[in-house]
Amino acid sequence: MPKTAGRELQYVKGIGPQRAAALAEAGIRTVRDLVFFLPRAYIDRTTTTTLRSLALMLHKQERLFDERPSEASAERLFYSEVTLVVRIESLREHTYRGNRQMLIATISDESRASGAVIFWNRLDYYRRVLQPGQLYILAGRPTVDRRGVVTFHHPELEPVDPDEEELYRVGRILPKYRLTQAMRQAGLTQSRLRTIVQHAIELVLPTLSDPLPESLRRTYNLPSLAEALQQLHFPTSAEELQRARHRMKFEEMFLFQLLLALRRRGVQRERGLVFNPKSVHARWLLERLPFELTRAQRRVLWEIANDLTSGHPMNRLLQGDVGSGKTIVAVLTMLVAVDNGYQALLMAPTELLAEQHYHTICRLLEGSGLTVVQLVGGQNPRLRREILQRIAAGDAHIIIGTHALFESSVTYHRAGLIVIDEQHRFGVLQRARLRELSRTSLGTDGVAPHVLVMSATPIPRTLSMTLYGDLDVSILDELPPGRKPVITKVVFESQLPQVYEFIRQQLRAGRQAYIVYPLIEPSDKLQLKAATEHYEQLQREVFPEFRCGLLHGQMFWYEKEEVMRAFARGEYHVLVATTVIEVGIDVPNATVMLIQNAERFGLAQLHQLRGRVGRGNEQSYCFLATRDHFRYHWHRAEDEPRERLAAIIRLRTMEQTTDGFRIAEVDLKLRGPGDLLGTRQSGMPEFQYTDLITDGDIISEARRAAADLVRQDPFLQRPEHAQLRRALTERYGDAASLLDVA
Ligand code: ADP
Ligand code: MG
Repeated sequence: MPKTAGRELQYVKGIGPQRAAALAEAGIRTVRDLVFFLPRAYIDRTTTTTLRSLALMLHKQERLFDERPSEASAERLFYSEVTLVVRIESLREHTYRGNRQMLIATISDESRASGAVIFWNRLDYYRRVLQPGQLYILAGRPTVDRRGVVTFHHPELEPVDPDEEELYRVGRILPKYRLTQAMRQAGLTQSRLRTIVQHAIELVLPTLSDPLPESLRRTYNLPSLAEALQQLHFPTSAEELQRARHRMKFEEMFLFQLLLALRRRGVQRERGLVFNPKSVHARWLLERLPFELTRAQRRVLWEIANDLTSGHPMNRLLQGDVGSGKTIVAVLTMLVAVDNGYQALLMAPTELLAEQHYHTICRLLEGSGLTVVQLVGGQNPRLRREILQRIAAGDAHIIIGTHALFESSVTYHRAGLIVIDEQHRFGVLQRARLRELSRTSLGTDGVAPHVLVMSATPIPRTLSMTLYGDLDVSILDELPPGRKPVITKVVFESQLPQVYEFIRQQLRAGRQAYIVYPLIEPSDKLQLKAATEHYEQLQREVFPEFRCGLLHGQMFWYEKEEVMRAFARGEYHVLVATTVIEVGIDVPNATVMLIQNAERFGLAQLHQLRGRVGRGNEQSYCFLATRDHFRYHWHRAEDEPRERLAAIIRLRTMEQTTDGFRIAEVDLKLRGPGDLLGTRQSGMPEFQYTDLITDGDIISEARRAAADLVRQDPFLQRPEHAQLRRALTERYGDAASLLDVA
């Protein structure tokens, strides 16, 4: 790193010890840091709105909302934070509910309309800092009050320096930095910071090296890093600013995709077992199946067969919406491994699901002569010892289990294939551990097992490109024939009697039903009591002539198994359950699901739950019951706190679509990618510039560019790629090892 860039801040003109300390507190320690301390927003006439146009827009939206409440309009309101330049005209206080105070600022702007800002908390602070007559940049979510006045509650208000007022008037684009309290106290205003950044740029830019090679920049029409940084701090036009931002995103995605491409290379160079894809048992099973494979299933099997014969380990993600038939694909693949003389492992995230797989597979393979065993926690020690012996001796062909599969006491005998179901439920390290155990069982010559991971979590394309960039992806994009989309309806609690009547009709017609309660914290005794009480009440008062079963997280695995089995055999008509049924359960005769307190579930969870019905040929139904309270807010969501609004959007989305990918996209918007996948689990880094939702095009472009580059220079050894290599290690030094497993 060049000397100037690493130089301490306080030697930059305009920064003394106090300011240096304030900046350091925000993580800005060197001159280089300062140059990369980018404005978080820009203010100009194209990004700000006026009170007048807001009033018009809100009025229109209000009508739209009342006439035709749609998810789209709710979403728009949900995200629409606006920025405007306003003057505070006056401040007044108002007492409500006897003794509570609020502070109301009347604001105006150049459109000569007026509006209001209301503060409920920290009044002392706002009384002190807000100055009537002063110009502010205001950012917040607008609402209209009863008289049609545009109103903001606790918006962000940033005073505008008088000289900026001038710049803004002449139409300049003004950067807006994130100022901390400490920075302000050290006398740093937006305009002072601008001056300081200007000095820093003069010091740093000439010495800055660009990680992106010039040829790449030319191909993709990207400005250099120095040019981009200059524009980001001091934009000369909206177009140039746009180009600069594009470049930063591109670089960020390019480095990440490069990392993935290199890792993929690494896996491809590993030696894998070469299987003969012609499997006697697979053929035998196919002949016995009561259905034909779908086209998608055949295509995926063909892709898998190619992997198994390639000489390199398979590293494939099988993505398919709930009910798309992933299990049979997994079983057929395992049979290939078995017929080649290897053990096949199938790992599921819960005991219940492992049980179910065990039974399904035992049933499928009845009479095949193959041995299927299961390994889960809590098995009796004698049985467990016996199973472990059979695994070690190679008498067990297919081994199904939970986390218990990678405990250190397990010794496999030539485990050549690992299948992981609902892979998002597992941590990256757990997968790596299982892979290592199998590798050990294959002997010492370093051959790696084949890995197939399956997921029903529908992931938007931009995300899967990012997250699974190092896996080959197969998609089951076709449901078995005859499936009808589940009819979904939001109902309010007062309508439950009608829903129960509907369920009774279904039961009389020979169908079965799920009634699901949220049990957020499985260890919570009170909630468990609630579920049990609900169950008893349902049995006694609602479904006296039918049999209800109860399934909850605190039952022992064999108790759960017994209840599930009885339900599958049709001995229970209704299964009252907590979310333990969420994953994978397959009872095609169940055609109704009622989800209680549906507003408490996340979208992905709701989608998974709903996937438990609609698995046979009968029309299925899903009722999402929510509080009556919501009914009154259904059409007036704009006043709602974020959380409630998000819940309404979730429920509406479920009503409107059964498309897992569409649902995942909404989920992604509501929660952000980190939450959706659990950033820690997924090992996905946080991105600074790129928005995984809206920057799909850049992601694809960067991915293509990365693939091209790795093809030309697989080890980044060319001199013109030295900077690139350095940037890659700098950024992903330790993440690289985490990302190494997937
Ligand atoms: P998922 O992809 O959610 O794991 P499953 O593998 O559990 O789905 O399959 C759902 C149901 O569809 C099962 O009952 C399975 O037997 C059935 N099924 C799978 N493939 C087909 C097919 N090609 N035709 C008809 N039914 C199928
Ligand atoms: Mg499944």
